[in-house]
Amino acid sequence: MTVSLKHDDEVVTASSLVSIHYHDVIIIGGGLTGLRVAIQVSDAGLDGAVLSKVHPLRSHSVAAQGGMNASLGNVPGEDGTTDSWEMHAYDTVKGSDYLADQDAVELMCREATSTVYELEHMGTVWSRLENGKIAQRPFGGAGFPRTCYAADRTGHNALHTLYEQVLDRGIPTYEEFFVTSLVKDNGRCIGCTAIEIMTGNVHGFLSKAVLLATGGFGRIFNRSTNALINTGDGHAIALDAGVPLKDMEFVQFHPTTLYGTNILMSEGARGEGGILLNSKGERFMEHYAPKSMDLAPRDVVARSIEQEIKEGRGHEEGYVNLDLTHLGEDRIMERLPGIRQIAMDFAGVDPIKDPVPVQPGQHYSMGGIDVDIHGATLLPGLYAAGECSCISVHGANRLGGNSLLETVVFGRLVADKIIEENNKLATQNIEPIKIAVHEVESKIEEILERKGAENFFKVKDDMSKSMFNNFGIYRDDQSMHEGLNEIKKLQRTLSNLSPNNKNRAVNQTLIQFLELEGMLKIAEVVAYGAIARRESRGSHTRTDHPDRDDNRFLKHTIAFLKDGNINITYKPVKLGMFKPKERVY
Ligand SMILES: Cc1cc2nc3c(=O)[nH]c(=O)nc-3n(C[C@H](O)[C@H](O)[C@H](O)COP(=O)(O)OP(=O)(O)OC[C@H]3O[C@@H](n4cnc5c(N)ncnc54)[C@H](O)[C@@H]3O)c2cc1C
Repeated sequence: MTVSLKHDDEVVTASSLVSIHYHDVIIIGGGLTGLRVAIQVSDAGLDGAVLSKVHPLRSHSVAAQGGMNASLGNVPGEDGTTDSWEMHAYDTVKGSDYLADQDAVELMCREATSTVYELEHMGTVWSRLENGKIAQRPFGGAGFPRTCYAADRTGHNALHTLYEQVLDRGIPTYEEFFVTSLVKDNGRCIGCTAIEIMTGNVHGFLSKAVLLATGGFGRIFNRSTNALINTGDGHAIALDAGVPLKDMEFVQFHPTTLYGTNILMSEGARGEGGILLNSKGERFMEHYAPKSMDLAPRDVVARSIEQEIKEGRGHEEGYVNLDLTHLGEDRIMERLPGIRQIAMDFAGVDPIKDPVPVQPGQHYSMGGIDVDIHGATLLPGLYAAGECSCISVHGANRLGGNSLLETVVFGRLVADKIIEENNKLATQNIEPIKIAVHEVESKIEEILERKGAENFFKVKDDMSKSMFNNFGIYRDDQSMHEGLNEIKKLQRTLSNLSPNNKNRAVNQTLIQFLELEGMLKIAEVVAYGAIARRESRGSHTRTDHPDRDDNRFLKHTIAFLKDGNINITYKPVKLGMFKPKERVY
């Protein structure tokens, strides 16, 4: 097979129909993180390409509602004082239940204001105050109104901005390419393989650096605000390549998801003054967080709602009410138009007139691919950023508004590191890419030839229900072990099943089958991490170990694959300005 590499061109080897592409940097993911990286790489004169299993504008970032945190100080605090990056960092570390690495938090909070202005200069249309400055609203766990927003469609606004910049630069994007594996050579990541969904062909990608920006894994849970595409593929392929995952047991449950569909009702709704009421019409957050009330951090509010429901003070079906009626039509129409529309379309409730039924649902993956402060993984040449990574700025519980911030701040900073390293490297060896493409081809053939008759979507349903029931808001040893056994059983079941659709072209069923294989691996990692952490911290609440235990567990969980088994070890948390203390809200 003869292959001549060109920088930005597809190289087809006619003899075997293997397509191999070369780019300096392969960016896997077309959400806010991936696109921000792509822009930076392009501006440095490197040839970076974006791969995404959906059109970039369908990436989950587009659904982000409430906003992005930065201590612009445009709205004073309750006592008239002005916000600062130090206060932002303090709230973030406290919100994280002290598990966040404080060097990364400091970096993110220092960079936040310039990042908001940078997005504005690129074209993001932030909502404004009467005086013309960028508007900021209160958010959970924040000491100041710090969250900059574009009504309740912030992600939509920001993602379109970055995509326009990508188009403007002519950055190559491989849309609807499903990445299946990372390729290594001499201990270095040199590229990846991907299925072109339209044709079913497997392509190889060779590069000097690969960045994973593949988003979260929320869909391993059944009550989730996440898009169906949030299946943790990046986590799974990193794990397969021997890269450790960090703090995977910390999964955020958002307090207010629409009862029935679990579509997000943004924290911005409470930021604008919305309140939570139980079935007796009581403002129950008074009892759980007397100071912060409805705007306590998400772990606190989600637990409180769950407790109200468990103790019979929720509505029978399993929800409480989010009341916005007192805000008035004008404010709701200006600040929360999307929330109103969703409530009307999916629950038949107009928040201007009636309270909205809400219940907690899975929302965010705090854990992820273990990276250092530059976004580098343990595998040279492989980087990760955004929700799929764990750098770790969110620790055991993320504050709302900090994730959009993380995507663009670290998108830029990690890109800078890649650029620095890239300039020192030579092109890699193409042979391992060819071998990897053939391995993926063989694997697909083997899966499609299996005879198993059971519908594999049942495996997906069983997994996501079991994860919510056994690794949900409240956890204990017995139910978690039951959950782990169920995952292992489902893994064995899936290994005999096959998608009904045997075609190669546009076979979304095959893609979902491959996603599910990875999801079951991720579910297993979450399970092992949660069982091993015998304390309660942030989102990880164990009824059998109700207290935080800094002596034994002020450390990051590290999970890695060895001889096909998940192994758990730990590494220290980077403390700094803020010493761990009890969280009071
Ligand atoms: C409903 C909702 C609202 C939210 N609102 C806010 C908010 O207001 N403020 C805030 O700070 N945070 C918010 N968040 C969180 C925030 O939106 C996300 O954490 C963030 O957008 C993730 O961005 P990302 O770039 O890391 O990943 P994503 O935007 O999820 O992008 C992932 C990309 O990876 C690609 N990909 C994945 N797997 C593969 C594969 N195998 N092959 C090829 N491509 C692949 C996808 O196609 C996609 O392009 C919200 C989350 C949800 C669920």
